[in-house]
Parts: sequence; C-alpha cells; structure tokens
Amino acid sequence: MIKSRREQFETLFPDQPAFRWKQIEQGLFSTAESWEDLTSLSKEIREKISSIPFSTVEPENILKSGNGDTHKVILKVEGDKEIESVLMKNKREAWTICVSSQIGCAMRCGFCATGKMGLSRSLTADEIIDQYRFWQRYLDERPELEGRISNIVFMGMGEPLANYGAVKESLNAILKHTDIGRTRITVSTVGVLPRLEQILTDDDWPHIRLAVSLHSAIPATRKEIVPTSYDEFLPKIEAWAKAYLKKFGNRRHHLTFEYVMLKDVNDSEKHARTLANFVKRIGNVRVNLIPYNLTGVEFQCSTGSATDLFQKILKEKGVVTTIRHTMGDDIAAACGQLIVENNKTK
Ligand code: SAH
Repeated sequence: MIKSRREQFETLFPDQPAFRWKQIEQGLFSTAESWEDLTSLSKEIREKISSIPFSTVEPENILKSGNGDTHKVILKVEGDKEIESVLMKNKREAWTICVSSQIGCAMRCGFCATGKMGLSRSLTADEIIDQYRFWQRYLDERPELEGRISNIVFMGMGEPLANYGAVKESLNAILKHTDIGRTRITVSTVGVLPRLEQILTDDDWPHIRLAVSLHSAIPATRKEIVPTSYDEFLPKIEAWAKAYLKKFGNRRHHLTFEYVMLKDVNDSEKHARTLANFVKRIGNVRVNLIPYNLTGVEFQCSTGSATDLFQKILKEKGVVTTIRHTMGDDIAAACGQLIVENNKTK
C-alpha cells in the first residue's frame, strides 16, 4: 500500500490541528512550486515535511500534436511505473485534461490499447490530483498556451469505478480547491454496476457527470466488444440509469452513453434503432458517438457516411447525439490509444 500524503503528514505531525492538513492541501493547488513556497506554514513544518513528495508524478516525456491543440505527458509514478495524461484545447478557449485512474486496465475491451496492457495497479488519489497539478503548472509556465483548465475527463488509462475510493477522493479535493464545477467533470465508466449502485446512496460521491461506455444496445454485440459485459447487463444498466436520473437528473444533469463506432460491428441501422429505443426508454440520456481510433488490426472505424446515418436515425427518434471530435491521434493521445509504449508498465 502506498501511503497517501495525508497519512504521511499525520505520521510526521501527530499533534497538528485538523485545519493544518486543509491548509497544506490548499497549498498543493496553489502556484507554489515546492513545500518551501508554502510560507503560511512554520519553518519547522516546512523543513520536516520535505520528506513527503510535493508531487507523486514526474514528467518523463511530453509530446505535442502537430497543430498544438493536444499535449500528452508520460508520467513516472511510484514503483517505476508510467501513466499517460492528456491536455486538449476545448471549444471554450480553455483546456480539458484527460486523467488516468489506473496503470493499465483489467477490463480488456478489444478496441482499447490500454485494455491490452492488463492492470498493473490502481492510482492513488494523490497521483490523480497530481496529474491536474502537473497540467496546471504546465500552463502557468507557458503563458503562450493561454487559457485555464476548465474541464476534466476521467477517460485516460484505467476504469475509474474499479478505483472508486481514490477517484472519489480526488474528485472531492479538486472540487474543493479549484473553480472547476461538477458539470465540468466527467467520469467515464465501462459500467461497473456494484459501484454505480453505490453512487445512488453514497452521500460523499460528488455528482459530477457520468458517461457509460455502452457501445451497443444489443447484448451479443456488447459482449463481443466489451468482454466484462454479460447477458443481464443491458436491462440492469437500464434500471440503474432510470433510478439515477430519477434521483439526480434535472435539466442540467443528464447521463451520457458513449458509443465507439466500429465498422460492421455496431454501426448498422438496426444497431442505431435498437440504441434509440433503449435510450428513449430511459429518458435524459445523450449519446456521444466516438470515431474509433486505430489500436490494432481487429477493428476499423465506421465510415463517415455510416456515422452520419447512425446519428440521423438517433436524432429522428429525438435522441440528443454528438460526434466526438478526434484529437491527438498523431501522438497516440486519442481515446483508447493510451499505452506506455516502452512496455515498462507490463
Ligand atoms: N474505462 C473507462 C474509460 C475509458 S476511455 C470506460 O470504459 O469508459 C474513454 C472512452 O474511450 C470509452 O468510452 C472507451 O470505450 C473509448 N475508447 C477506448 N478505446 C477507444 C478507441 N480505440 N477509439 C475510440 N474510443 C475508444
């Protein structure tokens, strides 16, 4: 078990009042570049605290897409492991960061590069928070990049809900110490039902946006491309989604279903109609169609015309549908392409 910064602090300073940790956490989200910069702390604390890592992630390599709108970093974490994290320009003239929640992933989705790595370990809340802090500092140091981080998506390596506790802790810390609101954060999940059920009654779970990677509303197809799926998954996720929206849905709070467009696998008109009916039964759900980014030879991306027709069918049935704009594919930073290529994480 990796000890959190907070646990290390409490071991080092057992007699400090509780507000001290809050002060330190706030300092971590400030422009401070080291413990030394946290001048609100006494000199004695600053000296002693230096044994705790100010950052748990260490940049090893940064890649920039040709047009400069996507940056990817490989970060070294405890145990000589590596993760990837991405910064993308968004439509609001600001930046969206895509954070990893695990090193690798155990879900084995056939179209996802991370899925092929298997799971090495889950990240700690500090390691998730420090991805945000890394990009915040990156932008601070490069004023020419203009704009702040306005959105966070948990769509990097890993299955966030398979790392529920650390993801929740990182969400709560980010919401507390930054100006990023709940509607600007999206956690994407393959659909880990016990954890989704837990969210329904967990008072500490912050109601950020959730996106469920559906990829098919036909059970056999979903099982084929998402190996962790099972016969009862679709009716169960339908019941869950209805319960979730009943409890937390409103005009501003919807659910998203993600749908990766795989040529001749899930992109036919029948698939579109089945998906539309599925979504209509649930209610306030939006569909996000994702062009498939190449990760191997098993799948191909649907053609533009198949994707347009798919979207048209959904729209005709009244389903709000967007097509995700692919970014960073020239630096393998697009959805599903995150894998640390020198195989260190394997
Ligand atoms: N484990 C989470 C986060 C995955 S990444 C989840 O399953 O939702 C975010 C989205 O990208 C998911 O919907 C995922 O299925 C999708 N994705 C994975 N590989 C992809 C690829 N090669 N091309 C396009 N989208 C991909």
